Amino acid sequence: MSDIAVVWFKRDLRCADHAPLAAAVRCRAALGLYVLEDEWLEAPEWDPQHWEFIRQSLLELRRALAARGMPLLLRRGAMPAVLAQLRRDYPFTELFSHQETGAAWSYARDRRVAAWCREQGVRWREWPQFGVFRPLARRDGWAAAWEQFMAKPLLAAVDRLPGTTAQLDQGEIPTLRALDRPGARPIPPAGEMAAQQTLESFLSERGSRYLHTLSSPLLAEQGCSRLSAHLAYGTVSMHQVVHRARQRLRELREQGGVEAVERARHLRGFLSRLHWHCHFIQKLEDEPDIEFHNFSRIYDGLREDDWNEERFSAWAEGRTGFPFVDACMRCLRATGWINFRMRAMLVSFASYHLWLHWRGTGLFLARQFLDFEPGIHWSQMQMQSGTTGINTLRIYSPSKQWADQDPRGEFVRRWLPEWGSADYPPPIVPEQQVARAAREKIWARRRLPEARAQAAQVLRRHGAGADRKRAAKPKSQQKPPPATEQLDLFS
Ligand SMILES: Cc1cc2nc3c(=O)[nH]c(=O)nc-3n(C[C@H](O)[C@H](O)[C@H](O)COP(=O)(O)OP(=O)(O)OC[C@H]3O[C@@H](n4cnc5c(N)ncnc54)[C@H](O)[C@@H]3O)c2cc1C
Repeated sequence: MSDIAVVWFKRDLRCADHAPLAAAVRCRAALGLYVLEDEWLEAPEWDPQHWEFIRQSLLELRRALAARGMPLLLRRGAMPAVLAQLRRDYPFTELFSHQETGAAWSYARDRRVAAWCREQGVRWREWPQFGVFRPLARRDGWAAAWEQFMAKPLLAAVDRLPGTTAQLDQGEIPTLRALDRPGARPIPPAGEMAAQQTLESFLSERGSRYLHTLSSPLLAEQGCSRLSAHLAYGTVSMHQVVHRARQRLRELREQGGVEAVERARHLRGFLSRLHWHCHFIQKLEDEPDIEFHNFSRIYDGLREDDWNEERFSAWAEGRTGFPFVDACMRCLRATGWINFRMRAMLVSFASYHLWLHWRGTGLFLARQFLDFEPGIHWSQMQMQSGTTGINTLRIYSPSKQWADQDPRGEFVRRWLPEWGSADYPPPIVPEQQVARAAREKIWARRRLPEARAQAAQVLRRHGAGADRKRAAKPKSQQKPPPATEQLDLFS
């Protein structure tokens, strides 16, 4: 019991199932620290809604930690300067945190923090936050490792934490106004309690038809879990969600009957997406460059010089003249969330029909998504833009999606009141023609002799087990890749 610790909260704003907090219990003194980093505030993916969600979560966390005897300090500045400053008044010897798989700036910051800790003789211990492994030598066995990680028991709740006798200013948790930043769009309830309520309402009621509601922007709002922001800021752990969902699955099995069997099927669909969450983040962990560069370098130069600001603005402002695309964008901009299929369609439209590079549109979308999670985001941006080299080329037709997902035009009328009036613009591009041209341009690269070798390399590094096994077979024995979106996402 000789250690003096700092628990550095990053994207893990909770008390329950929190390994760094559990480790702090054994220390002589400990305090919590959240650093509002200037680099993050200046990052191109930053949006006021992100801070508002964190701010509200921190207010709750500060109360919850105080009730257990631990202060939570808020500091603004750069890392590791904040740590150096803190150490003058509070001579800590241990720094505890979760691992973070973030944007390039956070990776560089972690390296600086590691160097500072080494110089100062501070021991920095990090625990995995998700089923994402560091370093991962080989992708083989990843699914088994994920399973092992998730099967571990949840950490016991901590009722009493060590505090400190040092006289330290806790620091205000600033509002956006205090930061001199614009206000945020309305956000859903943040914090650990809201995360639990969201999870429970999904498992007990809202998720009973999950797979049938997923693709419709009208139904998904209620029928999907809506846990993504909570997972992104760690107000609930992935571990907790997997455990609770599996417990629910057991209850349904015990219950038996047609209704329970059907509910269990939907719940299994949900569980498979939790797997994807980590599978995608692992890609960024293994290759941080995918935030900036194509997975398959054969696509370099394909769109880089074709950025068209006018097309981008029309897309970003929801005035492309394609009603369903525009309604989805308006909904996203107003609420900070839209379902998976509509995200994919928005990106497909930008990347193929408007031929815009995924990096520019991806930064814009990162600001719109409350749940921005770099590993999922950049992998998905590239998948929906045809630059991974290993995924089926899927160019969503906005008119087909509209007919399938909003046949009565209800969603479009809700989000695009000017639709059908003289104020609404004509289509910005001829749909069929530009889609055909985009397909040809991508295939011209895919047919190059080196494309196959590059795809094999991407698959080896990032593919899920099933895809790698399929690719390893001689071509004559290869079954075609699964046509469904669900399985396709595994690659
Ligand atoms: C271009 C694009 C960008 C995306 N960017 C993000 C992002 O920044 N952050 C983010 O959390 N999700 C992102 N997604 C994935 C997905 O759209 C969201 O996770 C989902 O819509 C969130 O709503 P939910 O929590 O109700 O999901 P649910 O359908 O209830 O799924 C439960 C959880 O599983 C995970 N999940 C679901 N679908 C996927 C998927 N396709 N890939 C990986 N994980 C998944 C999420 O953590 C989600 O919270 C993106 C998808 C696309 C096409």
